[in-house]
Amino acid sequence: MRKPVIAGNWKMHNTISEALDLVRGVKSQVEGVTDVEIIVSPVYTALASVAAELKGSNINVASQNIFWEEKGAFTGEIAPNMITDAGCTHAIIGHSERRQYFGETDETVNKRVKAALAAGLVPILCVGETLQERDAGNTISVVGTQLKGGLVDISAEDMAKIIVAYEPVWAIGTGKTATPDMAEDVHKQIRSIVAEISDAAIADGTRILYGGSVKPENVDELMAQPDIDGALVGGAALKADSFVRLVKFE
Ligand code: PEP
Repeated sequence: MRKPVIAGNWKMHNTISEALDLVRGVKSQVEGVTDVEIIVSPVYTALASVAAELKGSNINVASQNIFWEEKGAFTGEIAPNMITDAGCTHAIIGHSERRQYFGETDETVNKRVKAALAAGLVPILCVGETLQERDAGNTISVVGTQLKGGLVDISAEDMAKIIVAYEPVWAIGTGKTATPDMAEDVHKQIRSIVAEISDAAIADGTRILYGGSVKPENVDELMAQPDIDGALVGGAALKADSFVRLVKFE
């Protein structure tokens, strides 16, 4: 049984007080929800306040990135133990915006995944193709390369802890969603690649989230797909009511 995950990636939105308002709105409406793992991912400056507000609740906190070194002269970076110190349990790694705008590569993604695991954080490893890559028929080879590259030297034991997020770049923040069939097709293939890298039992237990314009109007049909185990959500996670509706998918 794979417990569904609904994760809100707030990206570069919300001051500390705005983040607290949002998370209080969510918390009050999801009390008692135990069958879905709920995660929110605020900006770095709001992590500690949000995590303190959520202590003892059923909502976990993720950072939107981490660096792989423990400390040192790395101006502007944040180490994994600083993220756990702020109260995080998860870290989003390799988001397409990091790959697109900040030079993230499969190699740096792999370093971050290993560093997250070493610090006891659950990596949420993001993969996904651009529209050009999809149109050229390269979706699976692109996603497969990102997945294998991000998971170099990851043991089966560690693979069992990782959450994968399939986020077609052309569907992120565009209002265009992959149809449930399109998403399911890639999710199924991701699961077989994970089986290749580790083994079938681990792949069977791996949560694979879909991301790309998930909203209250399409969450139910996406979540009805057998290999879609949750959602990584941007825009629709910025309002408590819509995020809560996603958590309470039918
Ligand atoms: C995301 O940021 O991971 C995302 C999927 O964004 P949106 O839901 O806005 O498309």
